[in-house]
Amino acid sequence: MKSVRDNCGVFGLYADQPCAYEIFQGIDFLQHRGQEYCGIATFDGHVNQVTHHGKVLASFTDQDLERLSGRSGIGHVSLKERQPVRWQSSLGEIAVAFSGNIINAEALMAEMMGRGKAFWRGYNVEVISKIFLEAGDPVAGLSVLAEKVKGAYSLVILSRDGVYAARDVYGFRPLVLGRGKGRFAVSSESRALQNLDLEVVRDVRPGEILLVNGEGFTTLAQLPSPRRAHCAFEWAYTASIDSLIDGLWVMEARNNLGGQLARRDAAEGGPAADLVAPVPMSGIGHAIGYHMRSGLNYQEVFLYNRYADRSYTQATQVARENMAKRKLSVLNHAAAGRRIVLCDDSIVRGTQIMHKVHDLKNAGAREVHVRVACPPLMYPCDFGISTRSYEELLARQYLNRGDIASMEELRRLENWVAARIGADSVKYNSLEAFVEALGMPQDHLCLKCWDGVRPTE
Ligand code: SF4
Repeated sequence: MKSVRDNCGVFGLYADQPCAYEIFQGIDFLQHRGQEYCGIATFDGHVNQVTHHGKVLASFTDQDLERLSGRSGIGHVSLKERQPVRWQSSLGEIAVAFSGNIINAEALMAEMMGRGKAFWRGYNVEVISKIFLEAGDPVAGLSVLAEKVKGAYSLVILSRDGVYAARDVYGFRPLVLGRGKGRFAVSSESRALQNLDLEVVRDVRPGEILLVNGEGFTTLAQLPSPRRAHCAFEWAYTASIDSLIDGLWVMEARNNLGGQLARRDAAEGGPAADLVAPVPMSGIGHAIGYHMRSGLNYQEVFLYNRYADRSYTQATQVARENMAKRKLSVLNHAAAGRRIVLCDDSIVRGTQIMHKVHDLKNAGAREVHVRVACPPLMYPCDFGISTRSYEELLARQYLNRGDIASMEELRRLENWVAARIGADSVKYNSLEAFVEALGMPQDHLCLKCWDGVRPTE
């Protein structure tokens, strides 16, 4: 199966004064969601648009922000493609940015090409824009999108009316509303709102279509939602720990996930350890949760290079491995002679955690026990997060099918993974423990990475 690599974040703002600088700050606070491309579009009677290949702070210049005049606008960060895209249309000039992945993009393009439509590069955002524009009316366009598109999306559309915002009917991707003095905003994550002194109002509901303008937030339509399917990976890895998503703080979720790992260790009698440590940064919340539940000392054993990127969202394997090496260095004095419980969010290919175990052992660690917040990854994501093919998923190499039949089978897999990565032991959260830690109904979550069930079917 072809791998999917598309993770991104959107931000939209309507303000009583020029808004480009705040949008620039907004997408900078979403930078962890994608580091390859960034872009801003504003409206001042016309759509002004600047996109870059690179990160927000390093890419946008004062001249860019001066060009981006207007009091309403949208911004985007991405691993995959430049957005927002600008269109001349019967609705006037518009700009579109979205976060997610369209599973049936090729079929939709083929159908439209059969009717004489042409595509430039066939990006998902082109497909979305053309379906939206064909309807000739924003609410009708967003309703048709929800009907035709299979996949996950949160999107913002800038027009003369303000900023339209919509979330797919399953609510895979987060989208949050915020307000402050003279400003109304929408963001992929609440942290961008909080850090711009905007009050978090609420999440956009699955299937909700909103207009954000000087009047505030107006719900234009509420499409029927067959079920919720929030991406569980947001809480385990993707989102920033200071964000609040669908009523659950990311840090709280990670603490709970680490707590579940500690609970399992306590129930199973092991291991005797001197400290619990995270693989920074994504393992921190989990390790703190393990510490809080077990009482085991929390101690950092790696120094995080804050100038390196997230290795998981680098576009190639070579880039990921190089970045992983640069990202963390061992704190030898903390590791030497210690028995360490090492917490991380998930194991994808297993190469990075293997290097970390190796580094700790080289630094003199007596034992390294790896604890993993997510259950074993068994399926690639179809909805826009950067997981790879079946072959690249470590657990799949051991178990050539997607289901783990029992705790016994999970233990056998864990022993195999431990031998593979050189750890003294490995334990994952079971799917039941994982869902319990998130504290929301299982049928409100997408768990396809682990159980293979596409919530859209
Ligand atoms: S398949 Fe996995 S990463 Fe993709 S939306 Fe579902 S839970 Fe999230």
